[in-house]
Amino acid sequence: MTSSLTSSRLAEEERDRPFSRSQDETTDTTTQTDSARTNLKNLLPHELAAWFGAHGEKPFRARQLVKWLYQKYEQDFLRMTDLSGALRERLNTLAVIPGLDLVTHQRAVAGDTEKFLFRLPDGNTLETVLMHFDDHLGPGRATLCISTQVGCAMGCVFCASGQSGVLRNLETWEIVDQVLSVQRLIASRGERIANVVYMGIGEPLANYTNTIRSVKILNHEEGLAIGMRHIAISTSGLVPAMLRLGLEKLPLRLAISLHAANNELRSALMPVNKLYPLERLIAACHTYQQQTGRRITFEYCCIRDINDSDADAHAVGRLLEGVHALLNIIPLNPVEGYNGQRPAPARVHAFQQIIESYGIKTTVRQTMGVDIAAACGQLRRNETQVIAGRTIARVGKVGLEKRS
Ligand code: SF4
Repeated sequence: MTSSLTSSRLAEEERDRPFSRSQDETTDTTTQTDSARTNLKNLLPHELAAWFGAHGEKPFRARQLVKWLYQKYEQDFLRMTDLSGALRERLNTLAVIPGLDLVTHQRAVAGDTEKFLFRLPDGNTLETVLMHFDDHLGPGRATLCISTQVGCAMGCVFCASGQSGVLRNLETWEIVDQVLSVQRLIASRGERIANVVYMGIGEPLANYTNTIRSVKILNHEEGLAIGMRHIAISTSGLVPAMLRLGLEKLPLRLAISLHAANNELRSALMPVNKLYPLERLIAACHTYQQQTGRRITFEYCCIRDINDSDADAHAVGRLLEGVHALLNIIPLNPVEGYNGQRPAPARVHAFQQIIESYGIKTTVRQTMGVDIAAACGQLRRNETQVIAGRTIARVGKVGLEKRS
């Protein structure tokens, strides 16, 4: 599998013109499991109601099931005690509710970050990161960073995931179940996931349909009920998909990986820029803001002597003038396979001050979880190396079996 974004892959994105149908009309082709039984976790709540109706059951059964799946974290139809015995047996015959298997669970020494590696039914793995922030809404609020693809095709040079290529898109349930599995795990500690960010492995907007379906399931009031404003989607800058997202008018947060304010450098760091250069990206941001009225967060991975100079900061300031923007400055996390260095704190501070002189709000992301390989994709990559050596141990479903 290639580790870079090939021109044919980019051309596919270009062809993925977004304006034909709304997402609710889009048919999910991944709802069937083993060709006979329906995967109910791939269905939106209103689709579940339709599915029950199509099988001669009252639509309110769907609401009961949603509560079992997303509020009681139940994984077995036979334990859904407010359904009749006959219906439970019928569901077992007609449908499935798969779950992710937890392979590893690491906690940073500081306790601020936890990493989860899950195994998918096809044997692939994905990575999910839980961060405990103190913010203006209170202490220790949990933010979960989830993945949308197995690997990533975008090939950003500073990213462990981009160095491994992409294998496939995650299904809707595989995205949702990262939240469900971790929520189930931390509920026993009296904790709750407050925010979900689509910033893990993969380009969420390259898996557009399943990403948006998963957002709607996470947000549904009878399910996990995570507020749309507490959900953030991050993109490397797939312009057509950004415009498609704008048409959805979802009040979620959009984050764009910027990392450079001139095309030459950005193309070197992020191959996607060759297809969607900064002029198109910024034009799409203006359109998105006209469509949604929402501020956009720009992520800027600060790399010593690469993109952290005063001139770079001025270029960012000029580029974002006129955009309702927040710039999140991320001093580079060390990543195997890329020799870029993290700038000194004083350089980051000077960079930040210049950006703010343009009237742009900024934040500097805290360094979290370096001791557990917190850079995107590192845990999966490390684990894949272990798998290649056939020494991995299967741990079992989250919350059902303990790790050894
Ligand atoms: S930074 Fe994001 S978009 Fe870029 S390669 Fe990594 S996962 Fe993909």
